[in-house]
Amino acid sequence: MDISETITALNSLARNIWWTWNQDARGIFEELSPRTWLNVYHNPVAILREVSKTELKTRLLEPEYAKRVKVVLDEFQEYIGRNDTWANREASGLEEKSIAYFSAEFGLHETLPIAAGGLGVLAGDHIKSASDLGLNFCGITLFYREGYFQQTINQENWQTEYYNQLNPKNLPMDPVLNEQGEPLICTVDIATDTVSFRSWRINVGRCALYLVDTNLPENPSHYRDLTLHVYGGDSTTRIQQEILLGVGGVKLLRALGRNPDVFHMNEGHAAFLALELIREKMAAGSSFKESLTATRKKCIFTTHTPVSAGHDRFHPELVGYALNRYEKHLGLTHEDLMALGRIVPEEDSEDFCMTVLALNTSRAANGVSELHGVVSREMWQCKYNTPVNEVPIGHITNGIHLLGWMSPPARDFWQQRLKNSDEFYEQINSQEFWSKIDNPEFISDEELWALRYRLRRELIDFARGRLIDAPRTREGDFINYDRLLKADALTIGFARRFATYKRAPLVFDQLDKLVKLSKDIDRPVQFIFAGKAHPADDEGKRFIQKIVHLSKQTEIAGHLVFIENYDIQIGRMLVGGCDVWLNNPRRPLEASGTSGMKIAAHGGLNCSIMDGWWREAFDGKNGFAIGGDEHPDNVEEQDRIDSENLYRVLSEEVIPTFYNRDSDGIPRAWIKKMRHAMATITPQYNTWRMVQEYSQKYYLGE
Ligand SMILES: *Cc1c(COP(=O)(O)O)cnc(C)c1O
Repeated sequence: MDISETITALNSLARNIWWTWNQDARGIFEELSPRTWLNVYHNPVAILREVSKTELKTRLLEPEYAKRVKVVLDEFQEYIGRNDTWANREASGLEEKSIAYFSAEFGLHETLPIAAGGLGVLAGDHIKSASDLGLNFCGITLFYREGYFQQTINQENWQTEYYNQLNPKNLPMDPVLNEQGEPLICTVDIATDTVSFRSWRINVGRCALYLVDTNLPENPSHYRDLTLHVYGGDSTTRIQQEILLGVGGVKLLRALGRNPDVFHMNEGHAAFLALELIREKMAAGSSFKESLTATRKKCIFTTHTPVSAGHDRFHPELVGYALNRYEKHLGLTHEDLMALGRIVPEEDSEDFCMTVLALNTSRAANGVSELHGVVSREMWQCKYNTPVNEVPIGHITNGIHLLGWMSPPARDFWQQRLKNSDEFYEQINSQEFWSKIDNPEFISDEELWALRYRLRRELIDFARGRLIDAPRTREGDFINYDRLLKADALTIGFARRFATYKRAPLVFDQLDKLVKLSKDIDRPVQFIFAGKAHPADDEGKRFIQKIVHLSKQTEIAGHLVFIENYDIQIGRMLVGGCDVWLNNPRRPLEASGTSGMKIAAHGGLNCSIMDGWWREAFDGKNGFAIGGDEHPDNVEEQDRIDSENLYRVLSEEVIPTFYNRDSDGIPRAWIKKMRHAMATITPQYNTWRMVQEYSQKYYLGE
């Protein structure tokens, strides 16, 4: 490869977000201009626009750099072209199945803020693993040109929101073109209008993610702005976005000549896709009944929450309005259409529920942890005339894309232990490798403890940097930021959406006792919080206000920080550096939770309510449990008991174990738990295992 070929290859590499899970690839872009790399928020496309061709050519004359570039480019080439994938090797029949995965949000990288939280991050991790494993898989979502909101905290410690316009030119996304080389335009009927849309393609390893975008001059402005914000606006915007995602998504696939065997609805938002599949079949002459049966054979549905507000319900009039013209093409009466989204079809006053539509139009449905499977069967039993254990909703526990979440020092650390084996990608996800960590001969306590220090230090430097950058005009700006956080102190993290059921401030219910615990000179504890409340969620914003206030005004100052504008980057730093990951949802409302899975490969330990994934992952030795399986129905009572249990586990288990050191200063019992957490959590709670399970249980079916 000569230099100009190398430059072309680097440009292709920048336009495939495979680099988000390859630390060496990130490294070669960063090295071109470390300061710009920070300024453009880790964006290779923007870096290559900044660095001129002449500069790049010259840099490639450095043999050391050129060599590393070559290694990465070879690895990328090998990845894209590989035939020896899991799908080919171990899942016979899978390569013939093409799968289209519809999700209203995808969390792929901090430069593409088109996700609101865990649901989107899960979708991003799903497609990354589908690529790794060699599935014939594509994703469908919307291009929100202002994405999810950016958060700042004002002088009243109140969350305020603003939006940044995303510029496709600066992002690894390409317009989808027709045969004439012009943007491919499709249409979808919304209300009484025909709305045009174009689309973008993001390369995710070997898979494509398509983003539907209505921002076209031929559309009236309210339709141009339909894809402005993630979950923006009222329920009218919501239903229109969902028509665009579901119906528009199928239309786009057809325009691309794709004919998927499986349509996977990630949450009910995507369920209108089934209407379009029914319409296609009826247009070809089938009856409604036949069309529904045939559609069901192709669809599978994953439900993600037991929280009622998480299930879209639309008033019959709104459905009539939004599907006005579409309904006529569909050839169904309004009543027949409404019946697809109702528990009691003939109940005229019942709203149209997207989850019910999804359940009615799928051959298989699942919750996202064992406990959530149970809860979902109870929740939807009303729809089926069967005993609760026969309700046809199974479960596949969520996971995370391990390498995408692994911090660079941790990746180097494990890569060295694997002796840079060619099989690194396979090994790092394998049970076999992680089982070895339980063995002190494979890796010493000292090495593991050094890794913890390194990662904690990196987080603390990062957190201080963020706090210093934040505007100083706020309450409490007298704080000396350099005194914030200590690299020796037990560091507890909490970062996720500030949905109220997650109870972010629960640990402060025992404030006096907690302050005393935190400020113990010999055994200090510090907390790092981050998270966004939905713009319409005032209670969530009060939670943020309470925590930010505490971080500045009380005796706990210096031991508690809130980092603004939580996103994937902050998430990555926190899951690397925290010793303990706190998770205290109101059971059983956390369907799975995934953030706690991200910490295990970094040596962090979970301290969690027995809800979601932790209910099945906790084995008594791989972390800490807050309370047990029982919970009272009364919410105040539940909060009180849980906060007491939380305080007890912190003061009696977590802190003593962390600070119980031997003469070399090493917490042996703590490290034993770290080892056991790595061995039991890392190979199991990742999206390789998850996508394999989806493949075997659902994608290969029918
Ligand atoms: C992992 C992740 C989540 C999910 O966190 P939960 O604990 O499951 O709520 C949310 N947001 C971001 C940015 C994440 O990386």
